[in-house]
Amino acid sequence: MELETPSTFRDRPINIDESGQRKWIYARQPHGKWYTRRTIVAWLAITFLVFAPFIKISGNPLMLFDIANRKFSIFGQVIWAQDSFLLAMIMAVTVVFIVLFTVVYGRLWCGWACPQTLFLEMVFRRIEYLFDGNYRNFRRKQKITFRIIILRFAKHIVFLITSVLITNIFLNWFIGPERLYEIIKQPIKENYLGFIFMFGISLFYYWIYAFFREQVCTMICPYGRMQGVLLDSRSIAVIYDFKRGEPRGSKNTGDCINCQQCIAVCPTGIDIKNGSQLECINCTACIDECNSVMEKINKPQNLIRFDSVSGIESGKRSILNMRTYAYSAVLFVLIIAMAITISNRKPIETTILRVPGSIYQQVDSVTFSNLYIIKIINKTQSDKELRIKILNPESGKSQLTTGQSTLKSQGVLESILIVNLNRQVLTGKSTVVELGIFEGETLLEVYSTNFLGPMN
Ligand code: SF4
Ligand code: SF4
Repeated sequence: MELETPSTFRDRPINIDESGQRKWIYARQPHGKWYTRRTIVAWLAITFLVFAPFIKISGNPLMLFDIANRKFSIFGQVIWAQDSFLLAMIMAVTVVFIVLFTVVYGRLWCGWACPQTLFLEMVFRRIEYLFDGNYRNFRRKQKITFRIIILRFAKHIVFLITSVLITNIFLNWFIGPERLYEIIKQPIKENYLGFIFMFGISLFYYWIYAFFREQVCTMICPYGRMQGVLLDSRSIAVIYDFKRGEPRGSKNTGDCINCQQCIAVCPTGIDIKNGSQLECINCTACIDECNSVMEKINKPQNLIRFDSVSGIESGKRSILNMRTYAYSAVLFVLIIAMAITISNRKPIETTILRVPGSIYQQVDSVTFSNLYIIKIINKTQSDKELRIKILNPESGKSQLTTGQSTLKSQGVLESILIVNLNRQVLTGKSTVVELGIFEGETLLEVYSTNFLGPMN
């Protein structure tokens, strides 16, 4: 890769040339303590991604986003789509957390925990080092031979297999391992639509990791785009100590010898000496590389380091400012409110809707009946023996057509509910009916609906 001069880095993305063509970035594999730390964190994160849907807490998966059944299991707590208030709260807390975290720690997420970086840098890039060699001495610089063609072919086969595995890791998060295993066991012809879907997603991942690569971070990801408004001069980021490094060059007085090794390892190809840039994912590769250069020339380490612009200017780090306090206060209030909401959640969630198109039936000379569809979700960890009783008007009678009254933990009961009322208690064309859902003698929920009858 040709190095950018300082005057062109603001004119166009680093991986695009003057004619608008893509320039491939061949980053050298970094080595050093930050790379070791990042490798450990990355493999812990990948382990979590792989095993979270398998781990059970009180019978519920640690993580599951079962969109088809509108059921989400977050750290073993099952949340249904009906818990819309709770879901909105979780989303609000997540957004505020991301904003607060970014204000304080910059793009730490991008380099250390984002699945795109985890898989690209720690999985696909390593496969590439294996088949292609490392950076400028690798085989792509050599003449194309039969061996090189075989190696390239083998690399792309491994890329494709890895993409299929990654697709299945993510499918586990959405349909659960039991369902996925069932689908895998079935012959393809019995589930060819699912197979095409899975293979299509795998091809998409293959294209991302084999060809599109770092452009996800530098051109598409909206989180990267938000950095301009979220970061300030006190945000922590991977940063070049310009006070210490300048003027650079071997004959100058600054510590930077302008060796460009920090660019050679950068997965997005940028020169961090130009200051914080949208393309920097805070991966720390340049810190390690510059530290090894400093060691060789007997200069102090950390010419590139985690710091803030104001920290470099003033010589002392500062991560706490008014914005941090304000975001922390909002986050704290939201977390408390969320904890209270979860602990006070109703044990069951009932929905009663009139059977479409039905009005009322006359059972005998004094009794009228209405038909409803009843749905009860048991949100607790125990089975429940339920009883439905009409609380108001007291003389009313109700009956489930399925006769079912046992509701399994996290299960759903769906049935037709028949409500019978005496003509005397009807208050006109529409009468309000209050239904109580009981477990034993304990009233779990009261639900009101309208009972249609003849005009009196
Ligand atoms: S690796 Fe360090 S010394 Fe070399 S150019 Fe980068 S900042 Fe300067
Ligand atoms: S500038 Fe440094 S921290 Fe930023 S992406 Fe490049 S190598 Fe990683």
